[in-house]
Amino acid sequence: MSELTAAIDLGGTTVKCAALTAEGRLLHHSRVPTPKTGRGDVIEAIAASMQKLRSELAVSCGEDVAALGLGSPGMIGSDGYLYGEAVNIPGWCEFNLAETVSDRIGLPVTALNDANAAALAELSVSADSRTLALVTVGTGIGVGLVIDGRPHAGRAGAGGELGHLVIEPGGRPCPCGNAGCTEAYASARAVRELAFEQAASWPDSESAFAALLRTGGPGTEEHLILESLYRAVRNGDPFARAMHEDFCGVLARVASILASTIAPDRVLFGGGVMGSADLIIPEIIRQFGTLVMRHVHDHVQIDIAQLGADAGLIGAAKAARLKTL
Ligand SMILES: [Zn+2]
Repeated sequence: MSELTAAIDLGGTTVKCAALTAEGRLLHHSRVPTPKTGRGDVIEAIAASMQKLRSELAVSCGEDVAALGLGSPGMIGSDGYLYGEAVNIPGWCEFNLAETVSDRIGLPVTALNDANAAALAELSVSADSRTLALVTVGTGIGVGLVIDGRPHAGRAGAGGELGHLVIEPGGRPCPCGNAGCTEAYASARAVRELAFEQAASWPDSESAFAALLRTGGPGTEEHLILESLYRAVRNGDPFARAMHEDFCGVLARVASILASTIAPDRVLFGGGVMGSADLIIPEIIRQFGTLVMRHVHDHVQIDIAQLGADAGLIGAAKAARLKTL
């Protein structure tokens, strides 16, 4: 059997593709835009990426891939079925993703949620870990789970949906249609909204960060607001400090639920916001300590995710390899 496994990391904007060697090296990395014109076109984009990859491998090393691991947004069961709808990709709802792609490309396909793929990749660089949770904070909050060395999809792919755990019944509206979800308080989008809303109650004399927001200083994009927020935290701004504590408090609650339920070796946090991990991780750990029993606290390590943008590809390939072992 070939030592090479193909990986696709499907996102709302790009289809990334590569082959992973047995040693964990990525070869022939490529990316194309994700079609916005329906499911059939996305399947064709995946098939075209795979065809290109296999042609390049044939030329470069005379080998083919044995299987494909496919990471995708959405709730994906262990049978490769996509339940519900992945909102970023039009038409990406209610079909057997693994089977459809396998029929199209003629290879065994393992499909899994992209957050679970990233978590599986993190496991490979987390010494002595068998059970791990990865919380990715971006526009939303995604949680990937690996239990005893394998990605955990749960029934109907619903495992790890902690971004939509209601922590404030009747609270802030969430894009999922519910209200008061963690994502409505501690995603990059929520922090941006909260910053502008709460700035109104801080006079210029007390918070330079609030004054800056009122003048439109940091711009309006999520990452610019977060960068500005954490610059202000470092300067001791009381409003920024309060926002930081609230933000980390919600993430600590997510970590406490994960720690008390699956008792992972590690709870890792990733996403663009972790550029300020030196402030965020210690504050999550501090608040986490107040939320769980001592025994749980002492056996979980909370840390920053190690892998960057390639985690989805690495984890998808590893999932496919686990299936064939
Ligand atoms: Zn929600």
